[in-house]
Amino acid sequence: MANDVTIIGGGIVGLATAHALIEQQPGLRITVLDKERHWGAHQTGHNSGVIHSGLYYPPGSTKARFARAGGEAMYRFCADHGIPVRRTGKVVVATSPDQLDRLAELHRRGTANGVAVTELDRAGLREREPNVAGIRALEVPDAGITDFAEVARKLAQLLAERGVDLRSGTELLGVRQDPAQLVLLTSDGEIRTRRAVNCAGLHSDAVAELAGTTPPARVLPFRGEYYETTSFTRDLVNALVYPVPDPAFPFLGVHLTRMIDGGLHIGPNAVPALAREGYRWGAISPEHLRRLVRDPGLRVLAKKYWRTGAAEIARSAVKPLFVRAAQRLLPGLRGHDLLRSEAGVRAQAVAPDGTLVDDFLVVQDSRWVHVLNAPSPAATASLLIGRDIAERLAKD
Ligand SMILES: Cc1cc2nc3c(=O)[nH]c(=O)nc-3n(C[C@H](O)[C@H](O)[C@H](O)COP(=O)(O)OP(=O)(O)OC[C@H]3O[C@@H](n4cnc5c(N)ncnc54)[C@H](O)[C@@H]3O)c2cc1C
Repeated sequence: MANDVTIIGGGIVGLATAHALIEQQPGLRITVLDKERHWGAHQTGHNSGVIHSGLYYPPGSTKARFARAGGEAMYRFCADHGIPVRRTGKVVVATSPDQLDRLAELHRRGTANGVAVTELDRAGLREREPNVAGIRALEVPDAGITDFAEVARKLAQLLAERGVDLRSGTELLGVRQDPAQLVLLTSDGEIRTRRAVNCAGLHSDAVAELAGTTPPARVLPFRGEYYETTSFTRDLVNALVYPVPDPAFPFLGVHLTRMIDGGLHIGPNAVPALAREGYRWGAISPEHLRRLVRDPGLRVLAKKYWRTGAAEIARSAVKPLFVRAAQRLLPGLRGHDLLRSEAGVRAQAVAPDGTLVDDFLVVQDSRWVHVLNAPSPAATASLLIGRDIAERLAKD
């Protein structure tokens, strides 16, 4: 008998979608498959762990709507299921006068998005974060920290208890469209299903192609590298400290994060990766290089941002440059206090005209829902994204 819904990708978005579906329609026959042996192995397991408040995103965007409500849902989920979480608050810090206009714009955006924001002068910032340098800051009390890999593991456990068929180590390799159902060809045999949801993150455009859809945007992987301080220097920062972001980019800039285990992480930068799962410099995929050369959008993007890309690559290759950038926020930081830590790779969609897709991007047809852009704050917003997809499926 065919499944009702099969979800490709057991990251936090795929698992949250299955969770929302089983909550909304108990009794539905659902399968979640992931090519890796454990859940949340890619973006979900390699990020800053920050529960975002909705400060940055254009009012009216899905990111703005889902980050704010999703953050609250995430705090509740963690509290209900004993997952460590702290509402630490964060500061966004201007380090030079030319950033003040952008800081004021962020304040306006935050207020329009319903986010509680207060302004701090130099003394206020010193009181909150004594070691951070800045001339003015925004304080956002509702940002916080958790461990999204832990959230994914808990979602998987809840799904197993509700009878959802969980198949790790199972890769989608092809799709056949039969008149009455989809036949998913996987590394572990065929799965027959009425509907399917593509939550394949770094591979979401490739999965859309397997499904016979031409994706309106392509995934460009951006590696985010982190350093971790020694335990002696972690107390330099109390909570979460962010720079004023560059408006040309959807990334938030190298920030200082007290993780849920108390460690202090510095990063991530945003280096174009040479493979979809390009966690290291040496990870180079010929398939990805071919895409870079052939895809017009990726070529336009490379031309437009080569200067910023080159600066990021330099900061990635030369530790003192990375340290110097971080010292703008934290002058007391010393290179010998920093150890390289695990990197993550972001799945960032790029439109054919070379623009980075800013908002979440979901497309659907009668059988498929494809999540084609779910970068930060999608971990924060995952429970809301899952509910939205479940509602889309219920409507048909
Ligand atoms: C460095 C970094 C920092 C970040 N910081 C934050 C933050 O602080 N706060 C926040 O809210 N967000 C943050 N994010 C973003 C957040 O991690 C992602 O938005 C979120 O994890 C996306 O989840 P996902 O389920 O869509 O993707 P993923 O977690 O990548 O899951 C996709 C899954 O699909 C599977 N898959 C792919 N292809 C196939 C196939 N053919 N068959 C079977 N399975 C397949 C993969 O194995 C993978 O497990 C950050 C991301 C990065 C990389």
